[in-house]
Amino acid sequence: MRNEFLPFSTPTIEDAEINEVVDSLRSGWITTGPKVKRFEEAFGAYVGAPFAVPLSSATAGLHLTLLALKIEDGDEIITTPMTFVSTVSMIVLAGGVPVLVDIEPGTLNIDVTKIREKITPRTRAIIPVHFAGQACDMDPLFALAAEFGLTVIEDAAHAAGSEYKGKRIGSLDSVSIFSFHPNKNITTGEGGMVCTGDEALAEEVSLLKFHGMSREAWKRFAATGTPNYDILLPGFKYNMMDIQAAIGIHQLPKLDGFIDSRKAIADFYNRAFATVDELAIPVTAPYQQRHAWHLYTPLVRIEMLTLDRDAFMAELKKENIGTGLHYKAVHHHPWYRENLPQTEQSLPNADYASDRILSLPLFPRMTEDDAADVVAAVKTVIARHRK
Ligand SMILES: *Cc1c(COP(=O)(O)O)cnc(C)c1O
Repeated sequence: MRNEFLPFSTPTIEDAEINEVVDSLRSGWITTGPKVKRFEEAFGAYVGAPFAVPLSSATAGLHLTLLALKIEDGDEIITTPMTFVSTVSMIVLAGGVPVLVDIEPGTLNIDVTKIREKITPRTRAIIPVHFAGQACDMDPLFALAAEFGLTVIEDAAHAAGSEYKGKRIGSLDSVSIFSFHPNKNITTGEGGMVCTGDEALAEEVSLLKFHGMSREAWKRFAATGTPNYDILLPGFKYNMMDIQAAIGIHQLPKLDGFIDSRKAIADFYNRAFATVDELAIPVTAPYQQRHAWHLYTPLVRIEMLTLDRDAFMAELKKENIGTGLHYKAVHHHPWYRENLPQTEQSLPNADYASDRILSLPLFPRMTEDDAADVVAAVKTVIARHRK
């Protein structure tokens, strides 16, 4: 057994990030300023988005994008149950009704072929989540959205660096929302970015993110700005700070290398687990895409074992292996169980995955020895609890 606990994820923070934060702290300019602008431009250029709006989190990005849609009470937004709750919570807080569509059993992405039957005259938008960093099948999804006049909002929290048919997520004809939480592929501590080609939407999100002040309002205390400002509408306080962007500026150039490291570990796991019947390894989508490997999420075949998934995770912890849970399906959480109008309706593939999924350690600084420890621990737990 391993001597040291292996966490399921940890960010790679090096001297460049640390020195840049210190530089911000010493400079007298800590909050939104020139470094946020630099990060905004660099990230927008990387993903291929004409407009990028930096924010305090992806949750803020989802909230403001949905508010910018001007949802009215009872408007329906289609999304997946296999996501972090904030995707669905923001639909509720923006005044919409979340409509969950089941996932594909393999990729765990929303099953695009099951969306049509959920579209009603009240449907306004579809929010696909690129689960674990593997792009959803966007061509048929866009075709459906065009047919019914729906907005597509990509929850791209897992998908910094992902590609769909040769195009970066962030450059498709929609709006994409990225997260820079410490577990994500690159981090700013906390942070998010709304990326789009829709200038009016970017402008609206910009206004809403900072008290309703016009776009370049951060300059009001700088040499090039004026202290006066106009409030164009009541807004939130969702801006990213320079001390956050200072981290992001040095994370972004490493993103492709991070993904390569993650992929190497994922490939190692896939080879090692190919012969382990009790574990269903992640399935690759049949279309061309670049997987960003934000997560490595096998399904534990609990019917072959004498313990459930939560106990499996607890056993791994005893072996000094950390795990994550991405995700318990949204409709299994108490509030959604009670408040979703469709709780009675079954989402069999999501239910199946929700009871069996776990996230094994996956982060760029992991070594092959670390991964071998994970594989050994998983095999030990399985051997101990085989039916
Ligand atoms: C992390 C995550 C979010 C929220 O991101 P924050 O930056 O933490 O607000 C939303 N959706 C998904 C799928 C996520 O993984």
